[in-house]
Amino acid sequence: GDEASGKKLVKETRMIMGTFAEISTYSNDVKNAGAAIDAALNEMERMDALLSNYKKDSELSRVNREAAKAPVPCSEEFLEFIEQSLFFSELSGGAFDITVSPIVSLWGFFNEKGHIPSDEEINRLLPSVSYKNIEIKRNGDKKKPGTVFFKHISTQIDPGAIGKGYAVDKALNVLKKYGIDNACINLGGNIYVLGVSDGKDAWRVGIQHPRYKNEILGYLELKDEATATSGDYERFFEINGVRYSHIIDPRTGKPVNGTIAVTIIAPSGTDVDALSTSVYVLGQEKGLKYLREIPGAEALIACEKGGKIVLYATRGFNEKFTRVENEGK
Ligand code: ADP
Ligand code: MG
Ligand code: MG
Repeated sequence: GDEASGKKLVKETRMIMGTFAEISTYSNDVKNAGAAIDAALNEMERMDALLSNYKKDSELSRVNREAAKAPVPCSEEFLEFIEQSLFFSELSGGAFDITVSPIVSLWGFFNEKGHIPSDEEINRLLPSVSYKNIEIKRNGDKKKPGTVFFKHISTQIDPGAIGKGYAVDKALNVLKKYGIDNACINLGGNIYVLGVSDGKDAWRVGIQHPRYKNEILGYLELKDEATATSGDYERFFEINGVRYSHIIDPRTGKPVNGTIAVTIIAPSGTDVDALSTSVYVLGQEKGLKYLREIPGAEALIACEKGGKIVLYATRGFNEKFTRVENEGK
């Protein structure tokens, strides 16, 4: 902490959405800071209860069970979540798609048992995979805001590529209500940085090296913005020396290769979560073109070419990024 300001670091960690949730702030009012962090973590837990595809009683699970039969009445928050997801699908030309779920299951990424499916198996499932199969009807009524309907019998929603970012934004709103002016919110690597850490220094966020487990590529110095990384190094399986990543191109039904990690900086947690996954699928050239549509979005893209890691960063990314030397461990 900053001795001159007398601020103390207040921090709490919980397991939420199957990953670590951690919120830190520097404060003179430790009691209020603790209460704020508690409430913000509770808010993330509430988002998990809304959006989980593991919890059977979540709104998302209910929609997955019922929406192919008839339109399902949904909460305003849930509709907003789906609308935001559809926004990124439209913008990315379908590279980002929350209906990719049946294909993710087919490859065995949900039960951690990797399996290479045949083209026939993939092609059988592909018609269910399209954000265009999700139909939202708005009622213009606060009590009954609208419904979600699936146009294909096998369509399912997977919140995995955007839900954590969405929860980060909800937690941020709670911190602000408590008057918190500096914080770092981290939900499984989906990070929002509010203000400056102890009254003067920028919050620093390390970027994991995609191949050296205990090293960082470098660190970001951020203020009032979010960052997230999609990579092939946390959830993947290997068969005969080939690495299959958990990020699928929804248009082909196959794991993406070429890209190994994408880090995004953007104004919100939802943005960075959705954008990192989208750019990962689109690859460097198309990904950068797509990013230009989002004001304030910057990227670091890591690709593997001939066994070597090649990094590309946008100018705005480099301004906030400090590269470190790697030992290769
Ligand atoms: P993380 O698992 O670290 O949150 P991402 O945010 O990139 O990484 O999300 C990847 C998850 O999203 C996958 O595990 C899968 O459940 C789902 N997914 C895979 N491919 C896509 C895609 N093209 N569009 C949307 N969701 C996807
Ligand atoms: Mg994502
Ligand atoms: Mg994510």
